[in-house]
Amino acid sequence: MRRSRGAGAPVVTGAVYEGKAKRVTLRPDDTVEIFYKDDATAFNGERHEQFAGKGPLNSQITELLFEHLESRGIITHHLGRIDDRTLKARHVEIIPIEAVVRFKVAGSLQKRTGLPYLTAFEPPIVEFYYKRDDLGDPMINDDHVDRLGLATAAEAETIREGSRRAAIELRSLFAGAGIDLVDLKFEFGRTSGGEVILADEISPDTCRFRDIETGEILDKDLFRFDEGDLLAGYRKLLSRLAGALASSPDAGGHVPN
Ligand code: C5P
Repeated sequence: MRRSRGAGAPVVTGAVYEGKAKRVTLRPDDTVEIFYKDDATAFNGERHEQFAGKGPLNSQITELLFEHLESRGIITHHLGRIDDRTLKARHVEIIPIEAVVRFKVAGSLQKRTGLPYLTAFEPPIVEFYYKRDDLGDPMINDDHVDRLGLATAAEAETIREGSRRAAIELRSLFAGAGIDLVDLKFEFGRTSGGEVILADEISPDTCRFRDIETGEILDKDLFRFDEGDLLAGYRKLLSRLAGALASSPDAGGHVPN
């Protein structure tokens, strides 16, 4: 069900979005609850498996990362936790652009450029993709964003620069945990007041993490390429992240036991 807009209109609650790994439900107070499922998908849904406990892990990692970004002055949709796999967030209209920030070559960029794995970029590359599962999320540029009416030029700039800034903050946080943040994907949403803020999730489902020393994979590539135990990798990532936040007095955020 969708919310009826307009001054004083009642908020109609119900599921507003069911994704492959999350379910977003509108609450009576016009916030949303985001339920993290145990499902993992890859290659646009071609592969699909469940990993008991993945949802809570991704919800914890996302919560810590949004809290860290907030402590660095970056506005996000995150509001708090409801239960072990459900987070509370501001209600936004997701802008159908996936912004990918790449510090190093991997994944589809390696295929597209032929550059060696982990070739570094300074400054990082920001790419836009059209968030359309039925089209396979194709890469787009600013002209497409404008002509398809996906966002205004000012919004696209907020997304590009907001993505770059948030990614740099996260790369530095993970470096303190001995983890190389190779690339990641962000989504932004519009609030009812027209503000564009960071939304969705930030987790090993949406980032590439490599151990700086060993190159060990700590993200969804474990599943995509059958590289090892997904849950063990996600658990290790969470524990290293929590350790880095705990040892950084100004990092902010709540660190789980
Ligand atoms: O597949 P590709 O190399 O383009 O992915 C770049 C980054 O964006 C990876 O960290 C991947 O996990 C993330 N991504 C995502 N959702 C998509 C596509 C990519 O989270 N639909």
